[in-house]
Amino acid sequence: MSEVLAAKTKCLCGNVTISAESIDPNFTVCHCDSCRTWGSGPFFAVRCGKDVEIKGDISIYDSSDWANRGFCQNCGTHLFYQLKESGEYNMPVGLFPDLADLEMSMQYFSDKRPDYYCFSNETKQMTEAEIFAYFASQA
Ligand SMILES: [Zn+2]
Ligand SMILES: [Zn+2]
Repeated sequence: MSEVLAAKTKCLCGNVTISAESIDPNFTVCHCDSCRTWGSGPFFAVRCGKDVEIKGDISIYDSSDWANRGFCQNCGTHLFYQLKESGEYNMPVGLFPDLADLEMSMQYFSDKRPDYYCFSNETKQMTEAEIFAYFASQA
């Protein structure tokens, strides 16, 4: 595993500030329907663990049995995707423009990617079936 990074950031309007202490620069991309409905394109996310401090007025949307999505109440900036069971945060790469050594490491729901875009990055990929099989094996 690569070295983790610490960073602070804020939403577009500045109402919400975030401090994350252990960010993995190997970010993931999710092509699922929910992520693309939420943000138009795939969700580029860095894993931030649980060592995250968020201040300001946020709204939390219960988006699936396993995760919540958070956004600024004022400007709507997407802030996080949080796994309910572990409490771990995945946060948009775009919130942390100054991180060093960012590298796309995984594409989730690769079979859900529509034909109108495609990345040339060579990454690991998991289909929906592979993801559900993986999490079932972890339970
Ligand atoms: Zn805001
Ligand atoms: Zn997704």
